[in-house]
Amino acid sequence: MAKAPKMCFDRLLPRDLKRMQLQREGAAGRSRAISLIGKQWPNGSTIRVRFLGGSASQKDLVRDVAPQWTQHANLEFAFTEDPTAEIRVSFDANDGAWSYVGIDNLDIPLHAATLNLGWQDEGVILHEFGHMIGLSHEHQNPDGGLQWNEQKVIADLAGPPNFWDPETTRRNVLHKYSADQLHGTEFDRNSIMLYAFPASWTVNGVSTHENEKLSTLDKAFVASEALYPPIDGGGSGAVALAVTEAQAASIGNPGEVDLFSFEAASAGRHVIQTLGATDVFMTLFGPDSQTAKIADDDDSGSGRNALIAADLSPGTYYVQVRHYDERRTGEYQVLVSR
Ligand SMILES: [Zn+2]
Repeated sequence: MAKAPKMCFDRLLPRDLKRMQLQREGAAGRSRAISLIGKQWPNGSTIRVRFLGGSASQKDLVRDVAPQWTQHANLEFAFTEDPTAEIRVSFDANDGAWSYVGIDNLDIPLHAATLNLGWQDEGVILHEFGHMIGLSHEHQNPDGGLQWNEQKVIADLAGPPNFWDPETTRRNVLHKYSADQLHGTEFDRNSIMLYAFPASWTVNGVSTHENEKLSTLDKAFVASEALYPPIDGGGSGAVALAVTEAQAASIGNPGEVDLFSFEAASAGRHVIQTLGATDVFMTLFGPDSQTAKIADDDDSGSGRNALIAADLSPGTYYVQVRHYDERRTGEYQVLVSR
């Protein structure tokens, strides 16, 4: 019997598993949806990557391949020995290939791996680093039109090399993300985020080929306004806030994420809040870092506004704001006071 394909396991935190829904039978749409909302790093982030073990050649391959993403996304990967690195890459051959998604990585204890490369080739490195920057599986696209032969998929993945129990297979392959959790464009058969599977896995004979390269749409999507657009003159494009002055802003397009920065001139209690009628979600990073998450908040402010109160040391802070409902837009203000 032929071996089942090697499958990737994108690790989701428990709060997201609850939000999944079963695939819709016979969905015929062609739209592609590959970014879970609220997972992306602040635009322009430098993400530090540390290796937990691995041979020189394994590490060299990752350092060589992974930055293909940052030729398109406005992100940098900095390979470092720093124990506080946001990303920890392990090479455990017995643990498959998996990664946490986007800024979920910031919730994993610093001693633990966030991304495992149980085997190494260009395709799997690009795929797992795609998860790391916030992308999910193309085959879980809720409008992808895949009609799984569930029993066959569960049976094949229960054997080598994956040894998945039925629940793992349901979560990673058969279930689809609910549409309101996702950004997306059209379905892309060439996406690096689409895994290969045989026609026997679907009831309508659909199969896919293994993708080893970033597709044209992968490159365009990560550089789009919804994810990591390049900024003229470089940097993050963060809008500078003056402390105690409300800044008018708006989520102008569905899925848009706004980024602000402010200076804490002296140590002390600061309150960062949004104002207005738009239900936004806010995340605070710093000091002097776009990737050191301090807190996030949905509704602690007035009405559906976000509010974070924190004792800050002097430095530069970053505030990421998105709509709670990625299909919606709206105006709001953001105010830093102390
Ligand atoms: Zn994957």
